[in-house]
Amino acid sequence: MIPQSTAQVEPLSLIKYTSLPEDWRTQLREAYRTPQALLTALGFSNAQQKALLADDQGFTTLVPKAFVQKMQPQDPKDPLLLQVLPQSLEAIHHPEFNNDPLQEAQFNPVPGVVHKYKGRALLIAAGHCAINCRYCFRRHYPYNEQKLARTQWQQSLSYIEQHPDIEEIILSGGDPLALTDPQLFSLIEAIEGIAHIKRLRIHSRLPIVLPQRITLELCQRLERSRLTCVMVVHANHANELAADVAQACDRLHQHKVKLLNQSVLLAQVNDNLTSLKHLSERLFEIGVMPYYLHLPDHVAGTTHFFVSLARSQSIVAQMQACMSGYLVPKLVREEPGKLSKTLYSPR
Ligand code: SF4
Repeated sequence: MIPQSTAQVEPLSLIKYTSLPEDWRTQLREAYRTPQALLTALGFSNAQQKALLADDQGFTTLVPKAFVQKMQPQDPKDPLLLQVLPQSLEAIHHPEFNNDPLQEAQFNPVPGVVHKYKGRALLIAAGHCAINCRYCFRRHYPYNEQKLARTQWQQSLSYIEQHPDIEEIILSGGDPLALTDPQLFSLIEAIEGIAHIKRLRIHSRLPIVLPQRITLELCQRLERSRLTCVMVVHANHANELAADVAQACDRLHQHKVKLLNQSVLLAQVNDNLTSLKHLSERLFEIGVMPYYLHLPDHVAGTTHFFVSLARSQSIVAQMQACMSGYLVPKLVREEPGKLSKTLYSPR
């Protein structure tokens, strides 16, 4: 039996606002890379740290300071901390949780490309992120095997060229915005050169966890593109969406980038009405449409984040009962072998 939670969230009025230096690469270099460094920054004593520290199961800690500054000091149940701190519960083995729950390997026609859905293809643009989320469905992804595709894009781009039914390219990873501007811009230019591509969708958590990445240069490059640019950000809790994130979203907005959010429903983090209501309201306030609420994938090491389907449907039904329809995200799950996401009705 996988435990459920009754997490409490802070009201929006208590969200802290931060102001950070502009250079995102410096911010990334200075990110916390061990649980000890993270817990020390949050003011946990040595004794508290000893009680909290756990094996990282081969998935290292990585958390930018901009994200840590939005956590409550010395609160082991902080919903942002729970997303990034290795926990002893990750050692739990469950037969239904494995390393490739979406069986993406079978939709990997050439290294670096996942072509599962009609009309669009996904490029693994980067093998790393600015943050390591403990629940990540790609935490076991063999990025090293895809390295060739990232350094020599030609094979991936040729595949896309040969498939005129592909109209949309999804840049994913890892996190595509973890690439430097020259790397990212040359990839975008190559995609723009393929006549049948109409839309560029960038899936990124950087606007949320390292909003300094949303530079003027990046926004201007996206605005100049002949492609319609959509950015799907990834926030799970309203506390992530402080003023620096709002500024980043505003900048993207002003440069004609359409903004959507996808969240993951996570036990102890956001699996309750109050938390998800605040999240949707805050997203809308900063110009981002709540889009998908993903049921967590069955990834090895993440059983403690699991929320049952029945409970998920009940939470979304509660949202529907008290919120405008456009604020209620679609509850979805990716299932291995299915050629589109499965949509679940609220109950
Ligand atoms: S940013 Fe996205 S891809 Fe990277 S670890 Fe987090 S969930 Fe996974």
